[in-house]
Amino acid sequence: MLDTLHKLMPTSFPALTRAKLETLQVNLGYRCNQQCQHCHVNAGPKRKEEMSRETIDDVLTFIDKQGIKILDITGGAPEMNPQFNYLVGEASARGLHIMDRCNLTILQEPGYEALAEFLAQHNVEIIASLPCYLEENVDGQRGKGVYQASIEALKKLNTLGYGKADERLPLNLVYNPTGPFLPPSQESLSKDYRQRLDEMHGVVFNQLYTLANMPIARFGSSLLSRGQFDDYMSILRGAYQQDNLNSVMCRSLISVDWQGYLYDCDFNQMLNLPIQIEARTNSSLHIRDCLDVNFENQSIVVMEHCYGCTAGQGSSCGGALSG
Ligand code: SF4
Ligand code: SF4
Repeated sequence: MLDTLHKLMPTSFPALTRAKLETLQVNLGYRCNQQCQHCHVNAGPKRKEEMSRETIDDVLTFIDKQGIKILDITGGAPEMNPQFNYLVGEASARGLHIMDRCNLTILQEPGYEALAEFLAQHNVEIIASLPCYLEENVDGQRGKGVYQASIEALKKLNTLGYGKADERLPLNLVYNPTGPFLPPSQESLSKDYRQRLDEMHGVVFNQLYTLANMPIARFGSSLLSRGQFDDYMSILRGAYQQDNLNSVMCRSLISVDWQGYLYDCDFNQMLNLPIQIEARTNSSLHIRDCLDVNFENQSIVVMEHCYGCTAGQGSSCGGALSG
């Protein structure tokens, strides 16, 4: 895989500082039952990295000390970490709002039959990737059979009450483009998704989030190998919207990797750009050494890929930033 880091600096992206820290995004590891083309963490079935119980306990101590309100769990397929249920159970007992970035197909894998019920019991918000409502496009990006398995998983979640009026069981879908272009309007695409998924499968959901692909990792590498990297960066830079700057996710979130090291977001995590805290050394900071750090007003490490968060409608962990 080709590394894009050298193409991301120097940067003209504006300086950013963190506002109040509210969300901890925890990457439980890079193992996944899928191996998608655009994956920004290079996840796949052969990856071995996964967060240990000891590090999860460090995460829980950090949550308590820092008064974190939202736990955003990601991977790989985070549910494949054997400690997933422990983390969700502990976070739920603390009253946190929990989000699971779920690839849907994991709910259909042998050994995970009880997963959907477990998520519902703990009122876990599901944020699920579905890059199109058409089979051909989904299977093209995410692998053969992924569409049908995803639809079956969505039906199972709907049966449990997800995606309907019950505010405790939100089911939000994520769209990302299938190539080097920006997502269409979140509002209009959302209407199409709602209509087509209902008509074709009787599937309902709460919101659709549209995200731009980041010029890093597997997607960045494919841009480089096809000679499309510079053109894609021009698209991202050209669509810069200053209004999105205040709401990029790193302003209220930090990300922790499977070993417990901290980053401004999971994109920086994948680029191995550790969080920088005033008066600390430039080396990586472990979550257990940051229990008393005040993250507010600290500088965020920005590079050219950050234009992926501010282009057009903007992209954050909650979808488009503007209408
Ligand atoms: S399902 Fe998600 S984590 Fe897994 S390979 Fe695809 S994009 Fe990566
Ligand atoms: S890529 Fe990360 S650091 Fe850059 S703007 Fe987006 S969330 Fe912030």
